Amino acid sequence: MLKYFSANWIFPVSSPPIKNGVVAVNPDGKIEEVLTKEEAGHLDLDIIVYKGAIVPGFINTHCHLELSHLLGKIPKQTGLVEFVQHIIKSRQGDIDEIKAAMYAADKKMFENGIVAVGDISNQISSKEVKEKSKIRYHTFIEAMGFNPERAGTIMDYVKGIKQDFEPLPASIVPHAPYSVSPQLFELIRDEAQKADTFISVHNQETEDENAFFENKTGGFLDLYQFLGLDISFFVPTKKTSLQTWLLHIKEQKTLLVHNTVSSKADIAFAKEHNNNLYWCLCPQANLYIENTLPDVDLLIDENVKITLGTDSLASNHQLNILSEMLTLQKHKQVAFEKLLTWATVNGAEFLALDKQLGTIEVGKTPGLNLIQLSADFKIESDKVQRLI
Ligand SMILES: [Zn+2]
Repeated sequence: MLKYFSANWIFPVSSPPIKNGVVAVNPDGKIEEVLTKEEAGHLDLDIIVYKGAIVPGFINTHCHLELSHLLGKIPKQTGLVEFVQHIIKSRQGDIDEIKAAMYAADKKMFENGIVAVGDISNQISSKEVKEKSKIRYHTFIEAMGFNPERAGTIMDYVKGIKQDFEPLPASIVPHAPYSVSPQLFELIRDEAQKADTFISVHNQETEDENAFFENKTGGFLDLYQFLGLDISFFVPTKKTSLQTWLLHIKEQKTLLVHNTVSSKADIAFAKEHNNNLYWCLCPQANLYIENTLPDVDLLIDENVKITLGTDSLASNHQLNILSEMLTLQKHKQVAFEKLLTWATVNGAEFLALDKQLGTIEVGKTPGLNLIQLSADFKIESDKVQRLI
């Protein structure tokens, strides 16, 4: 028995929007037909008609489910260096409370029309939630260690976590350029090559990150001091963060997360050295932590593949991709159809789920969300009604 959904607009994403179109879905959520109003008019169908626009399920390519209990606990606009210290000091907590917060966050993401998540994990705690979830998760197990001598030990440790996550899909990834030694970057790359998987890395979230690599100056020196880490071995590379670390990851499909201070020269360098990059924007987290946003126009002009992420509830009030789109519409005047591409098909492609998710096409199971748009295709609210 098929269900037929119609609305003022259907946005398949893989093809132009269809005014008053109709989507036929089977009981498993598989798209059986995508019809124009005229095509559907010739058939005697029992159609459920909505006001609004039907779009595919959203893909959240950057989240940290295991930080969900930090909602409202981390001060805003302190800058990244202080933010990281707050996270380290606050992330421990009652196990049941942490688990309950993760279940609640997962449920909210589902209600907000999110169908797949790329989720950063430092420990096994989120496994149970992910196993039971209706959302598809790919877990990025984060390796962290700036001291080159410890690279092997750290790699063994994260491989253990990856094993514990089995059979759930997971890959080992670098945390950030300032917390991963070149030796560890190379072990991660070798492992990704061996496992034929993709990776994710926090990139250029603050000017301090570039200052550290260029001149060994800036706020990260305070962070190492806080961590009690002697970094006398580190010699500045005289290059930006991205132009330093990307030399270790030339082929692997990689998601660069944040890119708040990435320049035109960085993007040119990135294109030259790895042609399999995706650029993830988490605008609400950037506003929360640094009160700034990446140069979105530059990324659009440079024609790079953009995806969206919510980051965690430590740096966001909600895990809602439509809300991230609304923020970019408001602050950067990005057109709706561009935002929708970033929020759906690009994320699905990065997570290698584009055969099933990301577009409303026959044979796929993308999930269907109803959202509200103005007559000139502006997002009117961040409320999502999940149809399937
Ligand atoms: Zn993050």
